[in-house]
Amino acid sequence: MLRSFLMLGLLLSPQALAQKSDVPKARHVVLFLVDDLGWQDTSVPHHTEKTPLNERYRTPHAERLAEEGLVLRHGYASSPVCTPTRTAIHSGQSPARSHITYWTLYADRDQTTPWARKDASRLVAPAWDVNGLDQSDPTLARLFSDAGFRTVHAGKAHLGAIGSSGADPLNLGFDVNIAGHGPGGPGSYYGQHDFRANGRRGKPGKSVWDVPGLEAYHQKDVYLTEAIVEETCGAVRQAAKDGKRLFLSFAPYAVHAPIMPNKKYLEHYPDLDPKEAAYATMVETVDHALGALLATLEDEGMLKDTLFVYTSDNGGLSAHGRGGEQHVHNAPLRSGKGSAYEGGVRVPWIVRWPGVVAKGTTSDVPVISHDLYPSLLAAAGVSTPKDHVLDGVDLTPFWQGGDLDREHPLVWHMPHFWGVHGPGIQPYSALRQGSLKLLFFQGDGRIELYDVAQDPGETQDLAPERPADARRLAQLLAAELLRRKAQAPRIKGGGQPLGVMAALNEMQR
Ligand code: CA
Repeated sequence: MLRSFLMLGLLLSPQALAQKSDVPKARHVVLFLVDDLGWQDTSVPHHTEKTPLNERYRTPHAERLAEEGLVLRHGYASSPVCTPTRTAIHSGQSPARSHITYWTLYADRDQTTPWARKDASRLVAPAWDVNGLDQSDPTLARLFSDAGFRTVHAGKAHLGAIGSSGADPLNLGFDVNIAGHGPGGPGSYYGQHDFRANGRRGKPGKSVWDVPGLEAYHQKDVYLTEAIVEETCGAVRQAAKDGKRLFLSFAPYAVHAPIMPNKKYLEHYPDLDPKEAAYATMVETVDHALGALLATLEDEGMLKDTLFVYTSDNGGLSAHGRGGEQHVHNAPLRSGKGSAYEGGVRVPWIVRWPGVVAKGTTSDVPVISHDLYPSLLAAAGVSTPKDHVLDGVDLTPFWQGGDLDREHPLVWHMPHFWGVHGPGIQPYSALRQGSLKLLFFQGDGRIELYDVAQDPGETQDLAPERPADARRLAQLLAAELLRRKAQAPRIKGGGQPLGVMAALNEMQR
């Protein structure tokens, strides 16, 4: 008898028992995924101190989330560009495994081809999954839908290419689709333009970038983000009326290019460069949408039972199209969207879950977008399919105050040239373990090592002075890429895969 008590004690500590029974399941789950929102693009400090960029942006509703939840200051996107992060969230698989390593547009067409021609390096990019997610994939929405949730997608989808099944969120398990389709940017943010690209140029005619399904707002003085959230709040109220549990994927097209001001907020930014002022109004508009959504959930009595996650799909745009000096829009992080450096992948992450996540807390434990798949499902008590291999880990024990045990390091893999030049905007693989981050630039075989906890700006390459750490992490990266069956880029002419260990050996010779 004593022995069985001891055994039980070993298996489940009293704390674990208490935790297991006391933790409520979230009745509703909301993923608020802003597009291209940089790590510094809110008034919520994600750095160790408040920065001038935090002072610039007006996001009181994001501040409310932070006051009522957990700010993950080392939260990452799965990729420095759109589709790979989005598909990683909805599949739980890192881009290295899914082979969705670049952004998608047309089915069966390699979108990287025109950019690859501009890549002067010795690299030949590998084949990748140019179609994105497919209707047969066990997506988050499919699993939530099968578990009886009302599944709503609102805004930018960009989960599958035009002409493939994944272009339409309704094929990926969503019951409701508000304005989502294959392309990853809006033709225009203005209702007066019918949200059409040609409307923005003052011309008639359609293009693939035209936002679908918001005809009621055409020719009206309404900003795209406002139209999307108005429709979304209607869908939330309908779910409440129908007594349904809700899984909402709210993904405004903002703050992705084209950078177009919401003119009613421009007066808040009189001293900014006009482009930067326009960008700031887009950030502010997204925050108003967040406020409207929170208010609706609260009115319907749902917010108290909702797990709410706020994050972005990649770092803030900084290479082109922004005002002022380039590559500094995510300062103190280096570079921005498309880059291997922290500015490309470190993004805002806030988690609000009443009664479970402690209020007003911060953490520097690294997390990554594809962790959301097992985490959102676990939080809602929905099981993951047994035969579906995951790279993400269930964060719910950590959100409840426990430790985060991660068997494998965070890994990034984008063996493609993004098409513009800037720091770290090169085909690359990388990993983070502890506070160390190893980067392998495949084109020129360059390896760099940073302590991103001490040096978030990645100013001091530690690879020369810490060769043993560089070797250990390079070996780990090679093993992780192999384990995930990542596609290897090749060297022009030679056709040989370019491996991280060969590059390291060359460097340490
Ligand atoms: Ca994006």
